[in-house]
Amino acid sequence: MVPRITEIQGSGIREIMAMALQKPSVIRLEVGEPDFDTPSHIVEAACQALKSGSTRYISNTALAPLRQAAARFFETSTGVATTPDQILVTHGAILSLATAWHLLVDEGDEVLIPDPGWPNYTMLTRLVRGVPRFYQLTPQSDFQPDTAQIESQIGPRTKLMVLCSPSNPTGQVYGESVIRNILSLARERDLYVVSDEIYSNIVFEGSHTSALPYDTDDRTVVVHGVSKSYAMTGFRVGFTRATADYVVQGAKLQEALVSCGTAASQAAALAALEGPQDCVREMRDVYRQRRDLACDELTRHGLGFWRPHGAFYLLIDIAPSGMDGREFALKLIDEKNVAVAPGPTFGQVSRSFIRISLASSEDNIKTGIERIAEMVNDRGPHSDG
Ligand code: PLP
Repeated sequence: MVPRITEIQGSGIREIMAMALQKPSVIRLEVGEPDFDTPSHIVEAACQALKSGSTRYISNTALAPLRQAAARFFETSTGVATTPDQILVTHGAILSLATAWHLLVDEGDEVLIPDPGWPNYTMLTRLVRGVPRFYQLTPQSDFQPDTAQIESQIGPRTKLMVLCSPSNPTGQVYGESVIRNILSLARERDLYVVSDEIYSNIVFEGSHTSALPYDTDDRTVVVHGVSKSYAMTGFRVGFTRATADYVVQGAKLQEALVSCGTAASQAAALAALEGPQDCVREMRDVYRQRRDLACDELTRHGLGFWRPHGAFYLLIDIAPSGMDGREFALKLIDEKNVAVAPGPTFGQVSRSFIRISLASSEDNIKTGIERIAEMVNDRGPHSDG
């Protein structure tokens, strides 16, 4: 087997998840998956599609009505004109990301990745023989990107910059001026930008700023999908918004890798985009309530944390325990029966953090935080043991 695959490190989230699946009574706060049922009109659309014979191959780029609906989505949410030939529908948003890496990053090219950031960006970079370079999002700067720091990481081989807002794992939503400055830096230094906007519908305060309106010369690939906002992780439908040429090449890649998407899933995604949107707002409001509850509980227990403004994640500072985030997460699942994502899997900056997911019941969040606090206090410098 080739080393570029065997040497790739899997995500630390999956490491904990694999352990959690072996322990039926564990409180699951590690995985980034909505705990809501998929809204019934969406499930119904998939069933109807199957019953009416949508059981065959479809076009590489997607069902035509879904491309139209996704184009309308981008146009309405960003104000930027988008035609269906600028849409590539993929097997989950992850394949939209994988397509971008394959199309834009050549062997030895550098990719600027947020630290902390979703581990898959680094995995994809290694997969295509690129070189990951990290720009830091620090708690001191509220986990907002710092353009000067990003610029200091740019070298002659830097090809692509990754943005993720709302961010996994910080839950920060990048401000308008941040996005504007980053896009102008990308233009100056001739970099492609992949803007992962999968959580754009889950913003608790203010509004989401897409990178798209700040792109004046087609260097930005925007990734979105239905997994998170519509609780449709198992349907595996994501979208890319890019140039028509990019989509033609991306469709070729899809053909080589997966032939095409799944008709019934795409029918469900169409129902999601075109149907009533109150379900999206309702789920977002519940995540916000849980965020508030979690922040109150963390404050009550005297734990350090960062209050997220979007997505459904929350970073907790476990440095007082004396452990790093992975050691802490392994002990926590073993001794306290709570699964959380270890900070080091997202990068260096978050090495003494753990990430909890707010996609879990209020009871789970409360009990989980109580046990995290016990663990910090058991092991912390002030403990007797
Ligand atoms: N981008 C980010 C930041 C994510 O957190 C995830 C899933 O966790 C994805 C993309 C992938 O989404 P999908 O399940 O649609 O492949």
